Amino acid sequence: MTADELKGLIRTVPDFPARGIQFRDITTLIGNGPGLRAAVGQLACIAREAGAEAIAGMEARGFIFGAAVAVELQLGFVPVRKPGKLPVETIGIEYALEYGSDRLEIDPASVGQGQRIVVVDDLIATGGTACAAAQLLRKAGAVVEDAAFVIDLPDLGGAAALRECGAAVHALVD
Ligand code: 5GP
Repeated sequence: MTADELKGLIRTVPDFPARGIQFRDITTLIGNGPGLRAAVGQLACIAREAGAEAIAGMEARGFIFGAAVAVELQLGFVPVRKPGKLPVETIGIEYALEYGSDRLEIDPASVGQGQRIVVVDDLIATGGTACAAAQLLRKAGAVVEDAAFVIDLPDLGGAAALRECGAAVHALVD
């Protein structure tokens, strides 16, 4: 499936979650069998070429694509979670949002020392979430040099920000 065909399956919702924001909604993409299959297959190719030994995905939409990529490559999946969700002692990282801050947490035992992990999410905007995830996984001992997304919003500079953060950005559509 071409990038244009994938793009055609992504819905744009105006004024969500706030006025003036054009939300790129992947509900329509994942509701389409061939579209979901193509997106997962293409992300898996990127992760395989990056030498992934495990896949990490951010709650919640990163779980959909990340877990499917992990299955495709027969690798383990590391859930990068919102605060307070994991039942064990976690390590976490705070990161800045446009207004305020947020936090991500992982179970440090879910990451192998020196393990090469590819981060997968539905979309990169400013790159703040993916950079925080990469830093957190590294804190637990992982090597994170690549991240794969269905959508990159290039106007928001996420690819450059993530490069500064030490990881290359790969995206299926802009
Ligand atoms: P960033 O941290 O790169 O600015 O924002 C990316 C994170 O916010 C991702 O986890 C992504 O799921 C979510 N996000 C931000 N804007 C959008 C959007 O327009 N569509 C979707 N599907 N997710 C978004």
